[in-house]
Formats: sequence, structure tokens, C-alpha cells
Amino acid sequence: MALLLDIRQENWMREEDLRDELAPHLPGVPIYCSFDEAAADKVVMLASIKLYPGVAAGLPNLQLVQKLGAGVDAIVADPDLKPAVRVTRLKPDAPAREIAEFCLAYVLREQRNMLFHQANAAMGQWVEREPRETLKTTVGVLGLGHIGGRTAKMFAGLEFNVIGWSRTPRQIDGIDCRAGDNALPGMLGECDYVASILPSTPQTRGLFDAELLTHMKPGSVIINAGRGDLIVEDDLIAALDADRLGGAVLDVASEEPLPEDSPLWRHPKVTVTPHVSGWHLDSLVPDVVENYKRLMDGKPLMNEVDRAAGY
Ligand code: NDP
Repeated sequence: MALLLDIRQENWMREEDLRDELAPHLPGVPIYCSFDEAAADKVVMLASIKLYPGVAAGLPNLQLVQKLGAGVDAIVADPDLKPAVRVTRLKPDAPAREIAEFCLAYVLREQRNMLFHQANAAMGQWVEREPRETLKTTVGVLGLGHIGGRTAKMFAGLEFNVIGWSRTPRQIDGIDCRAGDNALPGMLGECDYVASILPSTPQTRGLFDAELLTHMKPGSVIINAGRGDLIVEDDLIAALDADRLGGAVLDVASEEPLPEDSPLWRHPKVTVTPHVSGWHLDSLVPDVVENYKRLMDGKPLMNEVDRAAGY
């Protein structure tokens, strides 16, 4: 009944370090690092940031994939993952706070004309410009789950008008919550900023295409911290070039790292950040330990993903 850790990232946590942190909490449990063919039939749980090619197919007794993060789109889409294998994710408390801060930072950058003043200051020029008023500003938050819900509440707490959007109806104090595809175009027309923290699913992929972008309020800014495939990037560039949108802040891209020749890098209305809006994973060790124990005890798992819905 072994646990396999499969991370393989240069700039992130080493598997051996994670094993050393987990081991005292799971006495007697074999914990392997990286794919090891000799141990493959003992592995019941895989803790991983993504499913590397051949891993799912090479673990005949795998029961659970624990994503060491929040987005599970690539895991649930893996054709080698047997239907009976369950998928869990981390509850992203730290990334939720960080992504909310990220969205706020870029909204305030616009509200307070920060780039304008920085450029003028660099030239020694004293040029006034009226800041935008919070009470007259509407922020739309797409996705009202762990991260989006927190983001929406943060904006509401600062007295922005906040409209939230989810797949199924939600009720959150201080947020005008709307749900379902039909509600989206009308909502977009009301928002000065649209912050997306949606997962990548068959329903969200390519959602922001040329047609949907026409419903956004003229001059509004889109911030994407969910998944890059939400937006058809060529259509976004066309909307920005036509001056229908005021700007885009993209922490995620349809291809990551964003290719060097992507026009997004050099577009004057686009800010690209390298998928860093949510960084820290505070619940990693306790969640992996707890889900291993629950799996062994046949108890409900924490933060289990609905594989059919894709999130
Ligand atoms: P949750 O599963 O908690 O919430 C997802 C939200 O999206 C829910 O409110 C859900 O609606 C809504 N949603 C899903 N599909 C649709 C749809 N078709 N139409 C409308 N709403 C939809 O996820 P998290 O908040 O924890 O994370 C969201 C995503 O953020 C992750 O999947 C990941 O891709 C991304 N992420 C990005 C990071 C970064 O650094 N940039 C870091 C961490 C995560 P409902 O409430 O009805 O279920």
C-alpha cells in the first residue's frame, strides 16, 4: 500500500524533501520517489503535479491521484487514467489569498493610473489624472469556488460592486451571484474588470472567443488567473487592437511557457506574468497524509474532483 511522489520540477519542492516531511506522519508506509518499475504494483496513491506520460498506465493498482496543486484538467484528461481511479486536489488557501491579491493589484494599477504616473515621473513631468472611484467600479469574478469566492469577497470588502459567476447558483453575502451560460454576456457588459479563476473544462475551453468578447464593456480589463485555454488569444488581440477592451492581464496562457514569438509579450495593452499568481501550497503535507489515511480507511476523501465535470 505504497505512496509514490512524482514531481520532477527543477524550481520546486524535491520529492526527497517531501518524502522526509511526510514519513513521520505515515509510519510504516512505503513512500517512493519518482516512477520505480519494481515498486509499481505496490503503489495505491500517487501524489503528483501532473501525470507524466506512461505513469498512470504503469501503476496497475493505483486508486488515487492527489494533485499537488489545484488545477486537475491535465490529470482528468489523461486517457491512461482508469475510470475507477479517484482524483483529489489541494484546498488552496494560500493560493486563494495570493490570487485575490494578484487580481486586486492589477485592478488598483488601473484605478490609480499607476503606469501613467510612473511613466510621467520617469520624465520628470507633473501630470494630474483623476483616479477611478471604487464605489462606481464593478468587478466581475468568474468562478466562485475556493479561489474565486475568496477573490469576490475581497473586492466586496473593499467596497467595489462585485458580480460573481458560477456554473450552479451560489449565494455569497455582498456579491451579486449569477449562474449559467445565459447569464454571462449580460454580466460582462456591466463589469469594468473581469477576473477569471475558472478551471479548464470542456465548457470553459475557448469560452472567451470573438463573439463573447463583444459583450464586454468597452474599455474594460480582463484578468485571467485560472487557465489559459479560457481565452482564444488571437480573438483577444483583435479586441484589444480594435480598442474594444482596455487591457488584459494574463497569468496563464494557452501554451506555457508562453512562446517567445507570441504577440502577447509585446502587446502594449497586455501584461503577461508566468503563472505565478498563486504560489504557496500551505496544506500540502497535511492534505496528502489525510487523504492517504482516508483512502486506507475507506472514508470520504478531502477535495475530491468530479472527474466527469472536470474540476
Ligand atoms: P473550484 O473547483 O473550487 O471552483 C471552480 C469554480 O468555477 C466554481 O465556482 C465553479 O462553479 C466554476 N465553474 C466551473 N465550470 C464552470 C462553467 N462552465 N461555468 C461557470 N462556472 C464554472 O476551483 P478553485 O477556485 O480552487 O480553482 C479554480 C482554478 O484556478 C483551478 O482549476 C486552476 O485551474 C486555477 N488555478 C490557478 C493558479 C495560478 O497560479 N494561476 C493556482 C491555483 C489554481 P460551481 O460553483 O457551480 O461548481
